[in-house]
Amino acid sequence: MVKSKLYSKIIYSDTPLHDLLPFIEQYGKNKTFLVTEDNVNQLWQSDFLEAAEVYIKNKLVIPSGEANKKIDTAIKIWEFLSTKGADRKSLLINLGGGMLTDLAGFAASTFKRGIDFINIPTTLLSQVDASVGGKTGINFNGLKNEVGTFREPVAVIIHTNFLKTIDRENFLSGYAEMIKHGLIHYHAHLEELKKFNTEEINYAVLQEIIRHSVEVKQFFVENDPAEQNIRKALNFGHTAGHALESLAMEQKRPVMHGYAVAWGMITELYLSAIKCDFPMHACKELSRWLNGLYGGFRLSSLDFDRLYELMLHDKKNEAENINFTLLSAIGRFEINRHCERQEIYEALDYFRNIK
Ligand code: NAD
Repeated sequence: MVKSKLYSKIIYSDTPLHDLLPFIEQYGKNKTFLVTEDNVNQLWQSDFLEAAEVYIKNKLVIPSGEANKKIDTAIKIWEFLSTKGADRKSLLINLGGGMLTDLAGFAASTFKRGIDFINIPTTLLSQVDASVGGKTGINFNGLKNEVGTFREPVAVIIHTNFLKTIDRENFLSGYAEMIKHGLIHYHAHLEELKKFNTEEINYAVLQEIIRHSVEVKQFFVENDPAEQNIRKALNFGHTAGHALESLAMEQKRPVMHGYAVAWGMITELYLSAIKCDFPMHACKELSRWLNGLYGGFRLSSLDFDRLYELMLHDKKNEAENINFTLLSAIGRFEINRHCERQEIYEALDYFRNIK
């Protein structure tokens, strides 16, 4: 594994404030700023923020929700930093889920041509995925993550206790990305995820599993930071998943990202079986497991044309060619695998009938 100090320090912490203090000392109290969002601010005021605010005087709270991952909110963060005297040597601490870490990471990476920031992710999705890997961004012009930067946080502090207040849907949404990490990289991680009881969460065990999942993401990011080749493995499940997510939105029955990714993985496991010799029995077993966790998604064959179109327009696909990351075995992937329209329809048909 390539290691470089360009990449963030990942700190698994039972005492996040204690782990923040050396950074606050390094940058200075007056040069340390914190941004969070409404829900996290309310839920974690007495158990974290109250104590943190003894050291961090400058705090901004933005509204929660994906609809706020936009330029107007980035402007609020820039205004906050600018009026409170932030300079190029300042530090921004981003406390929240993936919406907050993407948005505030973007604001930090552009303010005065980029200041340092630390992510403290508070959802499972942001702990195992969004806060790690250096992608920041905002939605623009109706398009997701249309404007953004690549910039690594100086540190990511992962504190599993924050997950005690997220609901089951948000938990499972993040869990889907962990399953993806297991599928693309190593069997042992997949096995521990299969064994883990998502109904009665053991947070100490979860912390260890999260660590393994983050290591997978780091491996791909560090070996291919600009997503030229192997980082594309992280797109497994996402080509079909994004299309299902967009279709659900168009049909006014929106679904969470991780659910769409889980359904996308079922579709792409089938494509892996017919295109890359992934064992069909394993495909079926994994599909049933995913179906048990995430349920199904009502789909008519009349939706297939629209799903195909959505996949074609996914920004990661070149015109008239839909490429997937597929698996030949667990932990062995093939990037840029072209699939024909009728193969994709067959896979969608498999997905909608899985029980
Ligand atoms: P989110 O940040 O909107 O959080 C989901 C919900 O959970 C929100 O209502 C939020 O207020 C609430 N919440 C946050 N922390 C909580 C806590 N501890 N307890 C209770 N509720 C809490 O969404 P998300 O699912 O964390 O992340 C999705 C975002 O991440 C999307 O914008 C997506 O584009 C982005 N993302 C980025 C990357 C990347 O590489 N940068 C990767 C994956 C996803």
